[in-house]
Amino acid sequence: MEQQIPMVDLRAHFAPLREEILAGIGEILDQAGFILGAHGRGLEAELAQYLGVAHGVGCASGTDALLLALRALDIGPGDEVIVPTFTFIATAEAVRYVGATPVFADVDPDYFCVTAAGIAPLITPRTRAIIPVHLYGQAAPMPELLQLAEQHGILVIEDMAQAIGARLHGQRVGSFAQLACVSFFPSKNLGGAGDGGMVFTNDEALATRLRGLRNHGSWRTYEHEVLGYNSRLDEIQALILRKLFQRIDAYNAGRQQAASLYDAALQDLPLQIPARRAGAEHVFHQYTLQIADRDALRTRLHAEGIACGVYYPIPCHQQQAFADLPPSHCPVAESLKDRVLSLPMFPELSAAQVERIAGVIRAHLHGE
Ligand SMILES: *Cc1c(COP(=O)(O)O)cnc(C)c1O
Repeated sequence: MEQQIPMVDLRAHFAPLREEILAGIGEILDQAGFILGAHGRGLEAELAQYLGVAHGVGCASGTDALLLALRALDIGPGDEVIVPTFTFIATAEAVRYVGATPVFADVDPDYFCVTAAGIAPLITPRTRAIIPVHLYGQAAPMPELLQLAEQHGILVIEDMAQAIGARLHGQRVGSFAQLACVSFFPSKNLGGAGDGGMVFTNDEALATRLRGLRNHGSWRTYEHEVLGYNSRLDEIQALILRKLFQRIDAYNAGRQQAASLYDAALQDLPLQIPARRAGAEHVFHQYTLQIADRDALRTRLHAEGIACGVYYPIPCHQQQAFADLPPSHCPVAESLKDRVLSLPMFPELSAAQVERIAGVIRAHLHGE
């Protein structure tokens, strides 16, 4: 049997950095400063500079980044926040954590993102914010979303968990809205050796608020003005992320290279390869096809030892966890959930591996 091809190969990803990381961890153990130290501050400054924003505030996960962002904006009970239904559940979960109500917007069938036209009818006097998600690594249509938000006096939080490094019209995602949230979950484009996240903003007052909220609502030691959280990025994780971050452009370039090879090998087949938004630089957190008989292809790939995934099989508005909310009308997401299939995608994916995957898809669609 030929070698299995995984969705991501984190062992291959970390192997070249092993010695550097172990040496760095040794230094941290020698100094014994583990929480809110120089590596955390260094990572915050480096990522903020990379995105072109003034401040980064590290925290314990991407989900917490969203929670902290909502709290920083004082969003809570009685407020509505519009989120895409076609996303990882964390985007909507965070809205619920602060006691606000998620309102689910449908997405467009090519880019898998919310649109201004789709969101406009959902805006009510209670709407406080929109959380667009740069799904699979490609930017949401930020200019039209920001314009709509401005017209209605509502805020925007970018969920860039899947899209660090992606650009739209030359500008990095994470620098468009009032706040942006990233995840360092191991399989993300900048994924660490554990959980982590960060919030970005140009607004100094929001950054200060975030720094206190992540640390038990404390801006001065043992004084707690509001109820906060224990949500910090530890020094070992920050060290590891700094090492990985030095190579982020090469990692994203590796993903883009694999995506181009997939495109070339698959474009003449009866399926839809990922659409590229005009002016957008996609960083391919996922390479996601649309295909009519998706489950048959999935079964075939698995039988040949090739991993593939469905992100997401249940849109948020159909999740049991949100069954108490009023019903939502999201026909595009309800169709996409049966059509999407994500292929193996990671910086180290080789041309030979792409060739083999494409060969299996070709044979399957030709009835071989
Ligand atoms: C991964 C992810 C999150 C949550 O990040 P965690 O670090 O796993 O908490 C939020 N939104 C989206 C779109 C994600 O993909």
